[in-house]
Amino acid sequence: MDKQLYQAVCINGHQKTDKYESTTDPKEFCADCGKKLISTCQSCRTPIKGHLKLEGVYGSFRPTNIPNYCSTCSAPHPWTSFILEQSVELLALDTELSSSQKELIKNALPDLLVDTPATQVAIAKYKLNISNATKVVKDAMYNILIDTVSETAKKLLSN
Ligand SMILES: [Zn+2]
Ligand SMILES: [Zn+2]
Repeated sequence: MDKQLYQAVCINGHQKTDKYESTTDPKEFCADCGKKLISTCQSCRTPIKGHLKLEGVYGSFRPTNIPNYCSTCSAPHPWTSFILEQSVELLALDTELSSSQKELIKNALPDLLVDTPATQVAIAKYKLNISNATKVVKDAMYNILIDTVSETAKKLLSN
């Protein structure tokens, strides 16, 4: 029989394994950052799918990507919320942007993380407004987002 395995990921988004066998959270901590490891959605407790072990197939596989959102209840996973919270916190520090510009950027963020029909517009909103931010905030935002945003957003943000 094929066997669905799960991921154990720390709340900062470090994947420990995608071959975790239990459907409940591990009672362990991340060796990289010391944070709690989870293997389920923290809202609905659905296990986070990892490697699918096919019967009779052996060998090594690429690790499963860490999902941004729960596919059962659509709640953002802790590492996704963390990036959104950090970005909002950074925006609040900025002294150049108006509150409506900050609001526009904040609302665009979720559509930068995943490719949706709104991603292109979100990128335009983001780029037009962030260009008015102070350099410190602009650079820090870029660094936070660039590893996390969707492939489309990554290409458009870096040019
Ligand atoms: Zn970690
Ligand atoms: Zn969920």
